[in-house]
Amino acid sequence: MYSFKDKTVIVTGGSRGIGKAIVLKFSELGANVVINYVNSKDKANELATMILSNGGKALVVQADVSNFDDSKNLIDKTIEEFGKVDVLINNSGITKDNLMLRMSEADFDKVISVNLKGTWNMCKNITRHFLKNKSGSIINISSVVGLIGNAGQANYVASKAGIIGLTKSLAKEFGSRGVRVNAIAPGFIETEMTNELPDNVKAEYLKQIPLNKLGNPIDVANACVFLASQDANYITGQVINVNGGMV
Ligand code: NAD
Repeated sequence: MYSFKDKTVIVTGGSRGIGKAIVLKFSELGANVVINYVNSKDKANELATMILSNGGKALVVQADVSNFDDSKNLIDKTIEEFGKVDVLINNSGITKDNLMLRMSEADFDKVISVNLKGTWNMCKNITRHFLKNKSGSIINISSVVGLIGNAGQANYVASKAGIIGLTKSLAKEFGSRGVRVNAIAPGFIETEMTNELPDNVKAEYLKQIPLNKLGNPIDVANACVFLASQDANYITGQVINVNGGMV
C-alpha cells in the first residue's frame, strides 16, 4: 500500500473527470491535495468539502493554466498553505475538434495554449522549487492520440505530442537534480470529455481496444500513484500507456 502522508500533490483541472479521480486517490493515500479549477468552482468546493470531512487536507485554487501568472499563483498558494510541493500533475486539457479544412486558427491556438502552453507554464513555475529541493515528480497527461495521430484532432494531437517532447526534454534536464518527469497517455477513458462523442464513434473505438472495455478514470489515477511513488524512483522521461492495449 502506497503512502503519501505529508506529501503535497497539485492536480490541474482536478474538479472532475480524470483529475477528480487522481485527487481522490492521492487523498485516500494521505496526501495534501490541491484542486485546481478554471470554471467549475462548485465542483471543486464540493470535492474539497468531501475530502475535509473525511479527515484529509485539501486546497482549492482557481487558475487558468494557459495564463502564466495564474499558474505561478497556483504554485505560490500551494507553498503558502502546505510549505512545499512534491508532485505536480498536469491534467488540464480541452478539445476543439474539427477536420483541417474547417478548423479555425482560433481553435488551434486555444487548444495549444491550454494543453501545451499550460503544461509548460506549470513546469516552468515549479522548476525552481523542485530543483532547490532536489526532489519532485511531474506527471503530464498526454493521450494515446499524441502517439498515433487522429483525424479531426490536429490541434489536440499536436498539443499532446508536444507534451511528450516537453516531458522527455525536462526529464533529461532535471534528472541529475533528483526530479523525475513522466507522461501518461490514456486511451479511451469514460469522462465528460468522451461522453460528448456520438455512440457510433464510441463503438468504433471499442473495436480497437483488446481489453474490450473503456477505461475508468481510476485506471489513470493508479498509474499516477505508481509514477509518483518511490517504486518508480528509477523511471523518468517515459510515457506510460493506459489504453487497454489499443497501442
Ligand atoms: P474533462 O473535460 O472532464 O477534464 C478536463 C479538466 O481540465 C476540467 O477539470 C477542466 O476544468 C480543466 N481545464 C480546462 N481548461 C483549463 C484551463 N485553462 N485551466 C485549468 N484547467 C482547465 O476531461 P478528462 O477526460 O477528465 O481529461 C483530463 C485529461 O486527460 C485531459 O488532459 C485530457 O486531454 C486527457 N485525456 C483524456 C482522455 C479521455 O478519454 N477522457 C483520453 C486521453 C487523454
